[in-house]
Amino acid sequence: MLTTNPFDDDKLREECGIFGVSGTDGEASALVALGLHALQHRGQEAAGITSWDGHQFHTHRAMGHVAGNFDRDDIIRALPGTAACGHVRYSTTGETALRNVQPLYAELQSGGFAIAHNGNISNATRLRRELVRRGSIFQSTSDTETIIHLVATSNYRTLLDKFIDALKQVEGAYSLVVMTPEGMIGCRDPLGIRPLVMGTLDGAIIFASETVALDVVGATFVRAIDPGELVIVQGTETRSIHPFPPQPSRPCIFEHVYFSRPDSIVDDQSIYSVRKAIGAQLAIESPVDADLVIPVPDSGVPAAIGYAQQSGIPFELGIIRSHYIGRTFIQPGDKVRHLGVKLKHNANRALIKGKRIILIDDSIVRGTTSLKIVTMMREAGAAEVHMRIASPPTRHSCFYGVDTPERAKLLAAQLDVGGMTDFIHADSLAFVSIDGLYKALGEDHRSARAPSHCDACFTGDYPTTLTDQDESETVDQFALLAERVN
Ligand code: SF4
Repeated sequence: MLTTNPFDDDKLREECGIFGVSGTDGEASALVALGLHALQHRGQEAAGITSWDGHQFHTHRAMGHVAGNFDRDDIIRALPGTAACGHVRYSTTGETALRNVQPLYAELQSGGFAIAHNGNISNATRLRRELVRRGSIFQSTSDTETIIHLVATSNYRTLLDKFIDALKQVEGAYSLVVMTPEGMIGCRDPLGIRPLVMGTLDGAIIFASETVALDVVGATFVRAIDPGELVIVQGTETRSIHPFPPQPSRPCIFEHVYFSRPDSIVDDQSIYSVRKAIGAQLAIESPVDADLVIPVPDSGVPAAIGYAQQSGIPFELGIIRSHYIGRTFIQPGDKVRHLGVKLKHNANRALIKGKRIILIDDSIVRGTTSLKIVTMMREAGAAEVHMRIASPPTRHSCFYGVDTPERAKLLAAQLDVGGMTDFIHADSLAFVSIDGLYKALGEDHRSARAPSHCDACFTGDYPTTLTDQDESETVDQFALLAERVN
């Protein structure tokens, strides 16, 4: 039985990557396939591409990676046209099923359109309930379909106005690429929670979740889409509109910590450089007398380099990661399940034995992987194991398109740092402070009037209302009350 890799479940997980290209002289879908390859880290459960050939839409959506689905000539040839958009997915809202794989497509009276979404609409359940009451029939369980029905039922005349009307009713996080027979729209929610950038390639316009996808197709980075901005592409013309009331932006700070690829540029900053700066800050805040700095690969590497450079303690690869274990895996029996962590990470014994080591990781979610890795280091003969984490404790769930366990399963929501140190069997444990994280971004968090980013998974300060969440908590409270009364 194929299942989500059980050895890779202890990270917050970005849910989606999107890519769109308009105005090529053909082979748009091949460019989208390449772009999606570069965004594969943002979603590994499913991928899809929809193209427009000037007369009709063509689409192919499949479970699994981009490679294996879109590296076949026959599939790319069946997606002809000068414009195409695509999506890689790891589900947050809606179960894992082909009907939820994007781009979603709808044929409306005002014309057809395809939509690819990164983010999560935090009032989708309430909107859906209302739409169903008014007669809408949903084809999927994806929150993105809510936007399609809001567009379909809008009283505005043009597709663009209907689309804006729909977006004004949704709350939460969305970066979208929308493809219509007239052109393409790239847009970001008013807070800019999820990223979206624009590039050019031989006159064609490209939208992508990260700059690394522009690099891979040989495009030139133009700029990030502003929070609350819609960039409308028609032929070779682009125009920009800002239909929402202006408000301070709150992009996701975790893009810098973990989600984005280190070779991407986010908010004009190199992800690699910011991660190194976080590691250096961690060394200043939480020094420890030790022999080696060792990253938990791959995501802990840049911060470990920063920690080593700041502390003067040598950086070494004390854990070797296998790159041949994917996100899907044959369901192991209980007997071999506990061996799983060694399948992905193995100790470099000759290096570790007798050494006092500092392990650097990007975050602790459930703590299960940290426990296994600390144990592995001890079994390899480490004299002391000190863990340093390049983000503050993750104490709250994300409702903006990132897969997080419920709060009760977040280690930092249950235990203080002392309790977590015991749980993972480390000699010491420390996290970079929230001020230190902002400092690594070049910002003075303490003197700022309001946070410049969404940092809710560390602070609980959610930048939007969370209608569905609040309603489900109210329902839970009523159920609890009813139980008590009965
Ligand atoms: S809650 Fe955390 S992961 Fe989610 S958008 Fe905010 S900072 Fe990013």
